[in-house]
Amino acid sequence: MTLGKFSIGVGDRFAHQAKAQLEACLLAQKAGVEVIPVWNKSNREHTIIGSEPSSTRAAAAAAVKALGWSKPYFCDADHINLTTVERFLSPCDFFTIDVADYIGKPADPASIDAFVSNHPELIGAIRLEGVEQSIEITPELLRNTAAKFLFAVQEAGKIYRKIESEKGKGSFIPEVSMDETDSAQTPAELLIILSAVADEQIPIQTIAPKFSGRFNKGVDYVGDVAQFAREMALDMAAIRYAVAHYGLPSNLKLSVHSGSDKFSIYSAIHQSMKAFSTGVHLKTAGTTWLEEIIGLAEAGGDGLSLAKEIYAQAYDHSAELCAPYATVIDIDPARLPSPTNVSGWTSDQFTSALRHDQSSPAYNLSFRQLLHVGFKIAAKMGRRYLDLLEANEAVIAKNVTENLYARHIAPVFLGLKK
Ligand SMILES: [Zn+2]
Repeated sequence: MTLGKFSIGVGDRFAHQAKAQLEACLLAQKAGVEVIPVWNKSNREHTIIGSEPSSTRAAAAAAVKALGWSKPYFCDADHINLTTVERFLSPCDFFTIDVADYIGKPADPASIDAFVSNHPELIGAIRLEGVEQSIEITPELLRNTAAKFLFAVQEAGKIYRKIESEKGKGSFIPEVSMDETDSAQTPAELLIILSAVADEQIPIQTIAPKFSGRFNKGVDYVGDVAQFAREMALDMAAIRYAVAHYGLPSNLKLSVHSGSDKFSIYSAIHQSMKAFSTGVHLKTAGTTWLEEIIGLAEAGGDGLSLAKEIYAQAYDHSAELCAPYATVIDIDPARLPSPTNVSGWTSDQFTSALRHDQSSPAYNLSFRQLLHVGFKIAAKMGRRYLDLLEANEAVIAKNVTENLYARHIAPVFLGLKK
């Protein structure tokens, strides 16, 4: 089972938008580029919503059938580990093995010694094809990196083998993710990590490092775009080197987590992919849930009322809603409109505050981030929320497809500027 060059992770929290999301991949196909859809939903999201991974598979399969999608598609057990993987084993065929929590925990000294003595080739200046800069690895850096990451890679090996023993070799896409941690991995660290992944015999097809800069949920990148571009090019060069030297799968590519809405780096991602003739897996998730709210607000009437009610409750419970996402949101409470104020808004006022259009003076990034983490409120509404989704399917679907295609797929995979 092989993941195509270009792939997009889409999140469908309430399992109602798979068709609208797949439409965006069909638009890409019409424009001449194959973008493979991967439906991802983490254990955290399933737990908050009270859903099962099998429902994501059912919704994806129904969309694929309805639209006659003939290319591959996948269901991603997003950010799983040994304790959470079980219920994902049957319905999923893509596994994001998350080992961020194990970074910094030391492996046993003998295995660190063995790793260091097995990899003398990593020491010195490594010339990477496609970049000016070479990667410099001193004996100290090799040992320190092993001390910091080897245990995490060994854990990834354990989780991988558990999945392999259940599903069979080659019948799923393995990804290793290290993005939910405090500090970014350098390209040198990435190369060392990849050599350890190869030693563990994990045939990873995607790897999600933490990049420098902030990847907040649902909003644009915050950081130095030029530095990000240099880092991404070096990472791609390091991956190419690791594929050639350590026998990792030839389609191994970067996975960009919290990848939705990072408009200011999409051009850099597109340029790097072109320069290295490679692809990326762009993981987006919550951006679709926000389009549901935008669609409801745009519909007016009961839809707009419900959108306002969700905001009011999110406002009242903001501390609780934000806590699990504290490291990936930056909300300025002073910029949050009061629910009383919002209750008087028109459809247009609500959608223009929420829709991610940075050229609009009404766009409010704090309002957007609070609603991004507010899906628990809608989950608690249960049928009431779902009924309105169904009643307003057309207007919501239009927003979901447009957002994924025009704001994400077109700039990243087609290189189209807005
Ligand atoms: Zn992630």
